[in-house]
Amino acid sequence: MVRDRLKALGLNLWWTWHPEVIELFRELDPEIWRGTNHNPIALLARLSDELLAERIERESLESRINFHSRRLHEYLVDDQTWCAAHAGVLRAAPVAYFSAEFGLHESLPLYSGGLGVLAGDHLKSASDLGIPAVGVGLFYARGYFRQRVEPSGWQQEEYGPSDIATFPLVHAAAPDGSTLSVRVECGAESLHALVWIAHVGRARLVLLDSNAEANPPHVRELTATLYGGDQLTRIRQEILLGIGGLKALRALGIRPSILHLNEGHSAFAILERVRERVEDGVTFEDALRDTAIHTVFTTHTPVEAGHDRFGADLVEQQLGRLRTRLGLDQRRFMALGRTDDSNMQEPFCMTVLGLKGSRRRNGVSSLHGHVTRRMWQTVWRGRSEEDVPIGHITNGVHTASWLAPSMKHLYDRHLGSDWLLRQADRHVWQSLANVDEGELWETHTVLRRTLVNFVRRRTNLAPILDPSALTIGFARRFASYKRATLLLTDLDRLARLCSDRNAPLQFVFAGKAHPRDDDGKRLIQQIVELSRDARFAGRLAFVEDYDMNVARHLVQGVDVWLNTPLRPLEASGTSGQKVALNGGLNLSTLDGWWAEAYDGQNGFAIGAGSVHADPAIQWSRDAASLYEILETEVVPLFFDLDAAGLPSRWIRFMKHSIMTLAWRYNADRMVMNYVDACYLPAAGGLTHG
Ligand SMILES: *Cc1c(COP(=O)(O)O)cnc(C)c1O
Repeated sequence: MVRDRLKALGLNLWWTWHPEVIELFRELDPEIWRGTNHNPIALLARLSDELLAERIERESLESRINFHSRRLHEYLVDDQTWCAAHAGVLRAAPVAYFSAEFGLHESLPLYSGGLGVLAGDHLKSASDLGIPAVGVGLFYARGYFRQRVEPSGWQQEEYGPSDIATFPLVHAAAPDGSTLSVRVECGAESLHALVWIAHVGRARLVLLDSNAEANPPHVRELTATLYGGDQLTRIRQEILLGIGGLKALRALGIRPSILHLNEGHSAFAILERVRERVEDGVTFEDALRDTAIHTVFTTHTPVEAGHDRFGADLVEQQLGRLRTRLGLDQRRFMALGRTDDSNMQEPFCMTVLGLKGSRRRNGVSSLHGHVTRRMWQTVWRGRSEEDVPIGHITNGVHTASWLAPSMKHLYDRHLGSDWLLRQADRHVWQSLANVDEGELWETHTVLRRTLVNFVRRRTNLAPILDPSALTIGFARRFASYKRATLLLTDLDRLARLCSDRNAPLQFVFAGKAHPRDDDGKRLIQQIVELSRDARFAGRLAFVEDYDMNVARHLVQGVDVWLNTPLRPLEASGTSGQKVALNGGLNLSTLDGWWAEAYDGQNGFAIGAGSVHADPAIQWSRDAASLYEILETEVVPLFFDLDAAGLPSRWIRFMKHSIMTLAWRYNADRMVMNYVDACYLPAAGGLTHG
């Protein structure tokens, strides 16, 4: 039946990176599609059989449904993959990729920001490349909050009830057909967790959900929201993720060859793997060494406070039984999470456990690699900074998920039909040099207009923004190091830029502040107030509830992407990579990925990469640099039209940006790097388990 075929399509998140399938769902009922936050399963649940049949008939959708069902099937059975050709040994057993969040699509509230989107992109590229991978995460029924901004400009958090029955997920089945669950010892209690599966192309994502009937009410709430709650909630979520996650894989009969821990949250998986080995009769030291050989650890946080740390009492209370099973005394156990084994005051740090329990460790950009080696030098006492065994693999984005369909068509025409499969090869992008300037500009101009329409719809402010003005986007978490208001340092100077009739400039902002971060909320309020200031009338917009959908519109439609982190606090950043792919130019401090990517002609740099010890001085220097670049480089370049009416110098920047950045800052290249530098060495001829 056609409903079953549509449902099967909707239950494999492969559709999230195939805009033509998304368009098919949308055409079934554009209104409901929007109302369900673009969720095909929820859409189908709201369409009766009669209505569905009528829509399919009216829009002649049946042959397209069949066509895409066949494509999905072909994708799933294809074994001529990159992995088969380059890393066949990995096909023997999957890589288990643990992460506290996964950003796969706006309809699945399992992410809060960059870390989650990166994990989702990693899984999608692993699938595309044919690398057997299984993600492991938590099921957050209410997810991260939805942002509403009051008329006063103050952020309100809404944790609406989600209709989890219509998430694009399925329950994992136990051998007897009942819903699979696992049990994890945690303090004096046993936590039960139900297991959900998301299909992500060829990969699976296993999600643990504490909302099981066997649990008391306080445990049922444990996984309800992402990063909500106190230290106790946090350590218990992390026990469920790491320990419960590995148990869930076992219950599903999955024996991964490699554990890849994305950030410290899941590092307890190391202890669970060690416990299994110890209970097989291996000594603790041998079990830890053997586990580490098969474990890859990626850290993302150059900010001290961003690393989870738990006091010794809490750790003993929650993990005392595991410690006994490992045969360790309290001091030896705590040492696994301490930089100084003899410091009894030091809390247990999840990052230290990740570093000590893995053999391959990395930061997420070249600069972040340096920062991370310095930051954790004390774990390797006596080694010089450059000998600290932590490398780097720069983040990338999943091209098919972030690329506008019209840009994809342009690439399809000029780069060869198989360019997506070869996107990580720089040569593929060289033919872009021959693309007609007018064609590229026209494609981009339509995308800018689409963005302007989106902002008008979302803000309910019809005359806002000008579809032909130079449009600058800024969207990210309102964490203070990101310095969202650097741009607002000199409002008069900014107002002059916005009001130049011959060279108009406009700004679109979006982003959430952490629920407990009042400073961040004040920054949002400041921007919302400015959007109503007469000096910026119609030239400055704040779009509420930043999510993957808002992000997609922004990165596809802006001319310039503004990024102002205080170096070196942005580990990598990925949103600017999405922009580059779509032809927008980056204007950023030399931090994270941009510090290694900027070449003088593929975008703009704020400052020269030096850092003053006083953040206030650094702020005023960077602000001065930002205004100067806007006034003397960005604006003149954008409005310098040639005889044909095209900004041909700007278009040359666009081409150069795409050609130098797209092949490198995509998730296929990133996952290939993980294969070469981490997965293959970790898999190298050793036992699976
Ligand atoms: C890509 C993305 C991010 C990461 O953005 P950065 O600016 O690199 O931190 C965060 N949130 C969403 C919704 C994204 O799509």
